[in-house]
Amino acid sequence: MKAAAFDYIKPKALSDALSLLEQGGDDAQLIAGGQTLLATLNMRLSEPGILIDITDIEELKGISVVGEKLRNGALVTHTEIEDSDLVAKHAPLLKAAAPHIAHRAIRNLGTWGGSLAYGDPAAEWPACSLTLQATMVIHGPKGERKIAAQEFFIDLYTTSLEPDEILVATEIPLASSDQVFYFHELARRHGDYAVAGLAAVAQKKGNVLSNCIFTFFSVSSTPVMAAATQGIVNGKALNEQLIAQAVSTVREEIDAIADITNSAEAKTHLIGVLLERGLKHLIA
Ligand SMILES: Cc1cc2nc3c(=O)[nH]c(=O)nc-3n(C[C@H](O)[C@H](O)[C@H](O)COP(=O)(O)OP(=O)(O)OC[C@H]3O[C@@H](n4cnc5c(N)ncnc54)[C@H](O)[C@@H]3O)c2cc1C
Repeated sequence: MKAAAFDYIKPKALSDALSLLEQGGDDAQLIAGGQTLLATLNMRLSEPGILIDITDIEELKGISVVGEKLRNGALVTHTEIEDSDLVAKHAPLLKAAAPHIAHRAIRNLGTWGGSLAYGDPAAEWPACSLTLQATMVIHGPKGERKIAAQEFFIDLYTTSLEPDEILVATEIPLASSDQVFYFHELARRHGDYAVAGLAAVAQKKGNVLSNCIFTFFSVSSTPVMAAATQGIVNGKALNEQLIAQAVSTVREEIDAIADITNSAEAKTHLIGVLLERGLKHLIA
């Protein structure tokens, strides 16, 4: 199938894009890398009357360090994140996760902001943004607002973005020297969406982890943080017994949902496998 006819406009300023979005109302839709949207247009799952291409807007581009935060513009591509020295130094979890997103040709076009705004629970960036405690910078008709990643992902493909708002950037606290990271996903083939995945961060002192954040993705309608499991691990010497307790807790804590090929039971099992591997990696 081919997409239904639509008007196309490519503004150069964020303010123009916001005005167009407001004027277009329900009939207008933003397009960034197009790596998700073009497929939904062609399948006629979405039929906007006007597409607003935001890829010429300079305010949405670039990776930089601003104060104590790493700022990723919404238009930063997956490849730019994969190749960035700033990301490698200040947010190594993102560097580790990037190669798992599809294939390089898709990563060359797909964007950080597009992935976050789409809110796919199987995608890597929403989970990483939760783990790294990102703040979303959003512009709309009323100006700028900032919201924590924990409050941004509401439900399946649903975020707190209003239809007349644009995700402009994110701000991520810079990694500290005592922080350790783990990213892993279990997928049928490299580049496929994960059957289950884990993005984790902790502070490490000897064999004790603290301030742990474990975010599982592709297991529920949003990425999910394992708060009870984090509480069990935080501040205690990690040994086989504690790992077993954490694995059992995480399988209880996360209410996995089946997808078209994998049962909830399989996902629950994999959640435990990922956590065990993650804890052993973080402490190594
Ligand atoms: C074959 C294939 C495999 C893929 N595999 C993976 C994978 O393994 N993991 C993964 O995470 N992704 C995967 N993707 C999706 C890819 O990462 C997309 O690039 C990404 O999900 C969306 O980014 P985009 O820039 O292409 O957004 P678009 O497709 O342009 O837009 C997606 C949605 O976000 C909205 N939007 C875009 N930018 C903004 C913004 N700044 N503010 C507000 N709304 C905005 C659009 O209106 C649209 O609704 C795959 C895609 C393909 C085609």
